[in-house]
Formats: sequence, structure tokens, C-alpha cells
Amino acid sequence: MTPETTKQFGADLSQFRVRGEIPVPTLIGWLTLAAVPLLALFAYRSFLQGDSTTPTLLVVFAGLLAANGLVYLVTTHTTLQRRGFIAITTALFVYLAVSAAEDGSAIIWLFAYPPIIFYISQSKIGVIACGGGLAAVALLFSPIGDLIFDSPYTTSFRLTMLAVLAFEMSTCYVLDQSRRRSKLSLLRLANEFEYAAKHDALTGLANRRELMAQLEHEYQRYLRNARSFSVLLMDIDLFKSVNDNYGHHVGDDIIVMVASTLREQCRKVDTLSRWGGEEYLVLLPETGTKEAVQTANRVREAVASQSADAEGQKITATVSIGVATITGSESVDRLLQRADEALYQAKTLGRNTVCSSEEPGKGSE
Ligand code: GH3
Ligand code: MG
Ligand code: MG
Repeated sequence: MTPETTKQFGADLSQFRVRGEIPVPTLIGWLTLAAVPLLALFAYRSFLQGDSTTPTLLVVFAGLLAANGLVYLVTTHTTLQRRGFIAITTALFVYLAVSAAEDGSAIIWLFAYPPIIFYISQSKIGVIACGGGLAAVALLFSPIGDLIFDSPYTTSFRLTMLAVLAFEMSTCYVLDQSRRRSKLSLLRLANEFEYAAKHDALTGLANRRELMAQLEHEYQRYLRNARSFSVLLMDIDLFKSVNDNYGHHVGDDIIVMVASTLREQCRKVDTLSRWGGEEYLVLLPETGTKEAVQTANRVREAVASQSADAEGQKITATVSIGVATITGSESVDRLLQRADEALYQAKTLGRNTVCSSEEPGKGSE
């Protein structure tokens, strides 16, 4: 991932995990496991008290939660699991608020709602659910609520309940925002570290380590599927004289210019790397020698036709390229050695040249 892609971290951060964080599906799983027997217990207690509606509804809620858990175990559909859980628990909490079960004390369970909803859903959903919930409780405790429901709550209880619920919801919101900001900065940091570990700072091309990883990956594919691939080892000609004559910063500009020419001339599937100093290694998957030599010559010609600016002066550069295509059961090291030998040959043949390890000779110019 590049630093630019950090923009991809949208409002729903639950799909990105940081170490130590409880995954939302796991949390929902544990909550379901705790809620089902708890609901069964309270259903049993209500049953003993001679109530018939509350036990039935509590058992229905327990059944719905268990079914939601089972559907997740079968489908592993996390969004479905989360939405199902939110819908069932919201309905359950509404019922607990209006039913005055357990001598009216069941309404206290409402305090469990804000932390859960903020943790398992997006911040926006949490705010809407909590705002709606608080408004609903306020309505329930209002004279209108008294007309509809037979609420046993005293005025002081209603005031305290509303104030504490509002306080808890606000605290949950603040803590959740801070958790999300910390998580986002951790994800961005991890992303930037990952990018820096894989790329060259000057050119933005892959670095040697990343190229070696891609090469190993391609080699494994070759061993499995016999899909041959080629490498281009490219070196800027007489680069030392650029540094000596125009300064290190102009040398750097040339290195960047060659890198962007490589980007223009290669395919998206190719891995372009800065192999070291003024050397580049390009991995061309599923490419034979002929095609690789054509690519190399295209790059060589494109580099020669470009120029960098050094205090009003146009500086040009040329490159020599060694091409090698994997054959038989040779190792990656041997392949790179052959590319290096081909590059050496290109240098001895006069530079600005492409040489292939298989067919030594001057490339087309
Ligand atoms: P040849 O055609 O045989 O490759 O000649 P050359 O001058 O390119 O080869 P040589 O290996 O003698 O010189 C490479 C130079 O590249 C020496 C080093 O100072 C320079 N160099 C290596 N890395 C960088 C860099 O990041 N920036 C700049 N400006 N120069 C670099
Ligand atoms: Mg060199
Ligand atoms: Mg050089």
C-alpha cells in the first residue's frame, strides 16, 4: 500500500485490524453467548412470577440472537451478523425500556447499549442509535409516555436515568472518537512503514528487498506452472562523470528521470526496482527473451531521447541493459548472474546497448 492509499481508510475501520483489538465478529459472538443464557434466566424468573408475555418475548429474543450467531457460523457474513445483532439488541432494549420487567429495573440494561453500539458499528450509526434511543427514553418518561405505557418510574428516577444515560452516551462518543483516531494513525503509520520498507525513497520504485521477494514469488510460479520470466539489469552509462561534472543533485535528477522512463515503457505487471546506485532491475513476468529484448531496447531508446535540466543545460543519459530469461532448473542467483554478465558485455560493446544472456551481441539501436 502506498501513502496515497491511506485515504482508503473510510468511516468503517472495523475491516482493518490493529494488534490486540478484539474483532467485531468475535465480540458479537461473546455477547451472544452471554446474552442467550441471561435472557433464559430472566425469562424463567418472569415465568415464576406468573408473567406470560415477558418470558415468551425474552425467549424469542434469545432464539433470534442464537439464530443470528448460527447464520454467521455457516455463512461467515460479517455485515449480516453485525446488522442482525444491532437490530435484535435494539428491539430487545426497546422492549426492556417499555416493559418495566424485573420490577422496572430491567431498564438499567440500557446502559449496556452505547458502548456496544459504538464498538461494533460506524461512529455515525452509533450517534444516530444513541440519539434516537435517548429521545425514545425521554418520550417514554414524558406525560405522553405515561398515557401509552404503565411506567412505574418515579420522577427522580426518570431525571437521573436520562441525565446519566446522556452522560454515558457522550462519554462513549468521545472515547470512541479517540479510539478511532488512534487506530487511524496507527494504520497510517503501519502503511507508511510498509511503503518505506518496500520502496526506494528517491525514485519511488521497488527496492532491492521487494524485488527479491517478487522474484522469488515469480520463480515459485515458474517451478509450478513453467511460466518463464525475464529480468533486465540496467545501468546508467558513465554516470560518475555526470556527478563529477554537474554535481550530485543533477545525478539524482538523472536517476529519477530514468526511473520515470522505465515506468512509462513497462507494463503494470512488471516490477521495477532500483537495484542500487544507478542500477535498476526489472522483472518481466511471463516474458520470453525476444519480448524482453524488445522491451529493453524500447527503454534504452526512450532514455536516450530524454534530457534533464542542469542550470539551463540539457543533460542526456544512456543506459546499458543485460537481459536474462529463466531456463531449466537454474536458480534465481544464477539468473541474476547471467543478467550481470550480459550487462557487462553491453558495457564492453560500447554502452547504450542491450545484450541478452542467451544471444550475446549488440541490441538494435
Ligand atoms: P559505467 O558506464 O561503467 O557504469 O560507468 P559509471 O560511471 O556509471 O560507473 P561507476 O560505477 O564508476 O559509477 C557509478 C556512480 O554512481 C558512482 C556513484 O557516486 C554514483 N551514485 C551511486 N548512487 C548514487 C545516487 O543515489 N545519486 C547520485 N547522484 N549518484 C550516485
Ligand atoms: Mg553501476
Ligand atoms: Mg553506470
